[in-house]
Amino acid sequence: MLSLVYPAHCGGCGCRLDDLSGRGRAGGDGAERFICKHCRALILDAPEHQCPVCSHPMAGLFQCPNCEGRRWHLTTIVAACRFEGLLQELIHRFKYGRDQSLLPLLSELMIPALEDPRLVKKIFDAVVPVPLHPLREREREFNQSDLLARSLAKQLGLPLLRLLKRNISTAPQAGFDRAGRLENLRGAFSLRGRVPVDATILLIDDVATTGATLDACASLLMEGGATDVSALTLARG
Ligand SMILES: [Zn+2]
Ligand SMILES: [Zn+2]
Repeated sequence: MLSLVYPAHCGGCGCRLDDLSGRGRAGGDGAERFICKHCRALILDAPEHQCPVCSHPMAGLFQCPNCEGRRWHLTTIVAACRFEGLLQELIHRFKYGRDQSLLPLLSELMIPALEDPRLVKKIFDAVVPVPLHPLREREREFNQSDLLARSLAKQLGLPLLRLLKRNISTAPQAGFDRAGRLENLRGAFSLRGRVPVDATILLIDDVATTGATLDACASLLMEGGATDVSALTLARG
């Protein structure tokens, strides 16, 4: 039975977790069940000094350059880990290598971030994933954010509401300045379901960079009647 609950191999290096002569489980009862000690140490928590709103790393900075001149629709973006090293590889394997065996590990890595002071006092009504364009979802056969959101919703005992859809396959964001990026994102999403009245929503994506995608989603949810939209991502680039 145990092997059904606890996979035998490390999600990072593939070593046998139940082999006592090997590297061994990282221990604990979260993500540590799915990864060896060595690999767990290679996944870095969010930096200590970060912007309270968008989680931009703030070491040595007084003002967040990512928030400058911006009016956010979302309340905060909390990222569980840094988009670096092993985690970057795992997310790549999950998304593009379609390795869904990584889902328990990756969703567990997000759980501790729910204890972040920016989220812990909120009483969420629903979990909403950032949607993928239907064509891209068909290519990939799944939406990684949807899988993460589903797993979190289950753990939190909250409804998973797929309230958003992506209308057009947006041009890659690289190469645009910020104004261009926001313009590119405008109209990329729309509501496809009714937002519960006065809802406090937990919006889920795998990776945040500038937060523009998350905020485009948040603006629609707020327009649709939500009271608060907070974003949680697995990683922040
Ligand atoms: Zn490992
Ligand atoms: Zn910021």
